[in-house]
Amino acid sequence: MTQVPLRPAVAALPPYVPGARALVGAAAFKLSSNENPFPPLSSVVAAIADGAMDVNRYPDMYATELTEAIAAHLDVNPASVVTGCGSVAVLSHVLAAVCDAGDEVVLPWRSFEAYPIAVGVAGAQGVPVPLADGGRLDLPAMAAAVTPRTRVVLVCTPNNPTGPAVHADELAEFLAAVPRDVLVVLDEAYVEFVRDPEAADGLAAFAQHPNVVLLRTFSKAYGLAGLRVGYAVARPRLAAGIRATSTPFGVSQIAQLAAVASLRASDELMVRVQAVVDARERLLAGLRAQGWDVPDSQANFVWLPLGDRAAAFAEASARSGVLVRPFQGDGVRVSVGETEATDLLLEIAARARG
Ligand SMILES: *Cc1c(COP(=O)(O)O)cnc(C)c1O
Repeated sequence: MTQVPLRPAVAALPPYVPGARALVGAAAFKLSSNENPFPPLSSVVAAIADGAMDVNRYPDMYATELTEAIAAHLDVNPASVVTGCGSVAVLSHVLAAVCDAGDEVVLPWRSFEAYPIAVGVAGAQGVPVPLADGGRLDLPAMAAAVTPRTRVVLVCTPNNPTGPAVHADELAEFLAAVPRDVLVVLDEAYVEFVRDPEAADGLAAFAQHPNVVLLRTFSKAYGLAGLRVGYAVARPRLAAGIRATSTPFGVSQIAQLAAVASLRASDELMVRVQAVVDARERLLAGLRAQGWDVPDSQANFVWLPLGDRAAAFAEASARSGVLVRPFQGDGVRVSVGETEATDLLLEIAARARG
């Protein structure tokens, strides 16, 4: 039978596996999607309710107020800020702006599972570079993987799902080695959780290097995963190109209002972020005390390098009421959530060590 063919690149895409969802009625902690365990602030809920009255209208296409609020928050030019429907969508727009069919995109692996999908959809060729010891990005190997066909290098810091952040000296050396016409995307989805004093400063790198683009999101520290708001910070010429490839009216007015309210409440929200960081340190210390070899984490999750035991661990954990994210053959990612969830996870981890 004659059928409409899918593009070969699309037919070959790996699926994006969402974190497991709790069954209705089951007492389960969802530590599988790196979400913020806190419910929204009442000031943010009020902004969402205000927005509800205007859903018969299209949103502000340029997200003017939000763009200006982000620019003021980061002390950058508003012309450098491009918002989108989650930073995953913004990444696709970045790739659409700079990649032609067959161009190469160097990326760390294992890293964020959305990367190979976004690269494949863009028609580009992903060039995965294995992580170094300790779940760290191998930036010298990534710089060495750049060829004349490379248009973009993706740098995930902290790296999802392993946790470590790129250090300032590593990034400086890397940026000195990468040609100036290759775009370096620093995906800083978890930047607010970073406490490593040696961690790279993305905004400083952006200020110094015209080929650096930052990706940030309201989904993690700001707790707006359900509303889908992220953004890129890029030189105005690149930002205009990214805007040109973006879905028109992509960010809803409700999401824009909630994000502006969240920036206004950022001091309050950063207290919650610190609570997550404290819980992360308690989880890491508890696991290490049990004898686990866990990498440093600068994000809101920890990584258990379980190899082929990943799926079995995730199943046992789900039976005990904690949903985690297995990557079979590699490891398990556990998001940092409620205090009781951390306690329960430590019990499950202790049993797994037997
Ligand atoms: C969660 C995450 C994002 C953000 O996704 P949104 O689309 O903004 O929700 C981006 N990059 C990485 C590495 C992530 O883990």
